[in-house]
Amino acid sequence: MQTSSRSPPFAKPHPAGRWLYPRPEGLFCEAGGFYIDPSKPVDKAVITHGHADHARRGHGAVLATPETIAVMKIRYGENCAGAFQPIHYGETVSLNGLSIGFVPAGHILGSAQIIVEHAGTRVVISGDYKRAADPTCEPFELVPCDVFVTEATFALPVFRHEPADKEACRLIKAIRQQPDRTHLLGVYGLGKCQRMIALLRRSGFDQTIHLHGALVQLTEFYQHSGFDMGSLRTIETGGTDRRQDYAGELVMCPPSAIADRWSRRFPDPATAFSSGWMRIRGRARQRGVELPLIVSDHADWPELITTIEETGAEEVWVTHGREDALVHQLGLMGISARALALVGFDDEGD
Ligand SMILES: [Zn+2]
Ligand SMILES: [Zn+2]
Repeated sequence: MQTSSRSPPFAKPHPAGRWLYPRPEGLFCEAGGFYIDPSKPVDKAVITHGHADHARRGHGAVLATPETIAVMKIRYGENCAGAFQPIHYGETVSLNGLSIGFVPAGHILGSAQIIVEHAGTRVVISGDYKRAADPTCEPFELVPCDVFVTEATFALPVFRHEPADKEACRLIKAIRQQPDRTHLLGVYGLGKCQRMIALLRRSGFDQTIHLHGALVQLTEFYQHSGFDMGSLRTIETGGTDRRQDYAGELVMCPPSAIADRWSRRFPDPATAFSSGWMRIRGRARQRGVELPLIVSDHADWPELITTIEETGAEEVWVTHGREDALVHQLGLMGISARALALVGFDDEGD
């Protein structure tokens, strides 16, 4: 049994650990012969959502929501897996005497928690999740279970995200107060970009939003899926725009573009970045962010604790971030918990 040295000793690991356990490729369900979000190509992969550290190319067969499959094809090409089987929220698939179900995780469009039921035990693998409202995806659905596998990206008490609408309003106010400057907002291309656009629209921002080319394809996918993003315009590389065209405007780009040559076309840009990491002032300073917006697509500390309690799980397996801190806290709460020590996940960005 893998436990943090600070956790109280628990009698025995949960019996589900005999048929669901980490391997070098990722979390393996031996009873069903599949991996969940494997970090290397495998025969059968069940994928929680489209972020690159969860959905990789080269698997023999992929079981995922239609949206996750669409994202994988956009990013990696039509033939990025041998076969795809779409599964909608609420559906279950039977395999070797176990059942696999998908329910919304509230993280990004198409993101799912995977419910695996076998030998009278229900395990929920949450993937990445959040409880806060998001106009661009289905809300997280709580599923009572015996074992809950949770992420731990923001699993430290310091991480408390702000209400996302409030952060969007701060940005709108900043744009209106400085009509001579371009506001450059750094966002991740899948999920955060589209959520920020939707939040800004809901808060009454109806100016055209300018997008870096790298954000266009996935944003179009959201539009095709029925989300109204308002007026958008792509910034062409090598286009003929003049610098002053962007004064008073909002430009969204990948975080890396803020620091590179690309951003020099804007007059005296004010930089903003929307991320859960913006809670840490030093991080914002280090990145030269003038307007840090504390918006994340991951659960913050209170959401993690509440969610784990609400599942009623006897045992919690922690992965993907600050495992030790969460395992320790759950130990104090009398909940059996252990770190899964899976490799290949990276949510620095979010
Ligand atoms: Zn994710
Ligand atoms: Zn992740």
